[in-house]
Amino acid sequence: MDWDIVIGIETHIQLKTKSKQFSGASTAYGNEPNSQACLVSLAYPGLLPVLNHESVNCAIKLGLAINAKIARRSIFARKNYFYPDLPKGYQISQMELPIVGPGYLSINANEKKKDVRILRAHLEEDAGKSSHGVSQGKTGIDLNRAGTPLLEIVTEPDMNSAEEAVAYAKKLHELVQWIGICDGNMQEGSFRCDVNVSVKKKGTEVLGTRREIKNLNSFKFIKQAVDYEVNWQIETLEDGGKIDQATILFNPETGETKAMRSKEEANDYRYFPDPDLLPLLVTEEQIDEIKKLMPKLPDEMQESFKKELGLSEYDASEIASDSEVTKYFLALVDSKVNPKLSANWILGNLYSRLNEEEININQSPIDSQRLAELIKRIEDSTISNNAAKKVFDFIWDKSSITVDQAIDELGLKQISDSGEIDILVDQVLKNNQLMVEEYRSGKDKAFNALVGQVMKASKGKANPSQVSELLKQKISK
Ligand code: ADP
Ligand code: MG
Repeated sequence: MDWDIVIGIETHIQLKTKSKQFSGASTAYGNEPNSQACLVSLAYPGLLPVLNHESVNCAIKLGLAINAKIARRSIFARKNYFYPDLPKGYQISQMELPIVGPGYLSINANEKKKDVRILRAHLEEDAGKSSHGVSQGKTGIDLNRAGTPLLEIVTEPDMNSAEEAVAYAKKLHELVQWIGICDGNMQEGSFRCDVNVSVKKKGTEVLGTRREIKNLNSFKFIKQAVDYEVNWQIETLEDGGKIDQATILFNPETGETKAMRSKEEANDYRYFPDPDLLPLLVTEEQIDEIKKLMPKLPDEMQESFKKELGLSEYDASEIASDSEVTKYFLALVDSKVNPKLSANWILGNLYSRLNEEEININQSPIDSQRLAELIKRIEDSTISNNAAKKVFDFIWDKSSITVDQAIDELGLKQISDSGEIDILVDQVLKNNQLMVEEYRSGKDKAFNALVGQVMKASKGKANPSQVSELLKQKISK
């Protein structure tokens, strides 16, 4: 039997603000447990929450970036539940009136473009962290994270494969970093996805019962978890079983998903408007101010790379998939280096070296200025593309040496002196009479072989286009 897969994603992003959502305590990661647990984080009675306006600006930025409606008035609500790392006994969130939504995000998966509708994005606060077994039989509570500003971004159930789910997560991950509202650090939990999965018989309208895979913090896990879960649901249904709505966890070690608890309903949380917080009002002027500060978005950037700089679809989308790579690329273009050549070098040599060393582009020992110098030496025919690769490897860990010094030191300067090339060409023609005959009798391949011979004789230093120019002149005589 054929099945449709249906996926909706809820993403929690930690907003890049210095202080917490409702207090002045620091949001820095990795400090001594509870050193950032202020009285508000500890839920001392009588303390009132004060809203962090920077997080509101972040939410507005996201709204603008996903073509969403931004509510002029939204409401904070209390989501009540008991957990040891939630001292207040409730989380401040938004329920009926969220600040952002609806909007959409365009994704590309399986060579198909699709708009994933985003139902809403609402502001809330993070809980603390429980560390089980800190000492035997004991659980430690760290409230440093309690109260960290979060934006929860909820899609409609619009994705229909693990690939689309991953494409969406990647696109959103890239976007929130691009607009500067989240550091995107998935290991530290700054970007985590709850992925809701259901299946239904192909073509039927009614959605199946979903199970929600909690807290996936890598794209690989999203793919593995969805694949496993879809198989499990289909097998269960085909064996005559039924799916119960549940919250489940993915175990990266076994690659399996497992039920954690049966899903609670919204009314279990007894949501109600938080009486300590006024309605959040956003003005037209505020939105206009933020609009002015917004960078060109990845999709727009990609378009302009194609239209204005002549990059291919693939190169444009690869470069525009990361704001740091875009910056690096634009710096090359600003130094008047050919855009296509720049893209080739970034996506080719630079990327493979960065991958090898497991570093990202802003840690590259060859910065955009040095790469620009190198590519210019190809453009002005000082060195061949192949020689440039050698220079690239040579200067990788030598910051003190200039590109020109490296070219000298490696003896890679092309011979552009036509007199010298002339002599080499004559020698090759004399020693390869047979090839010359073959070429004259119509075998074009023989010509390339002759060029190859001259290049070899010059130890790769002759300028290839000059060589073929000269060869053509001489043979046709
Ligand atoms: P809750 O907040 O209780 O988890 P929501 O109704 O807000 O529930 O839905 C959460 C997410 O689940 C949304 O992203 C939504 O698109 C998705 N979703 C809802 N129904 C289904 C379904 N049948 N299959 C897959 N995903 C679904
Ligand atoms: Mg949910």
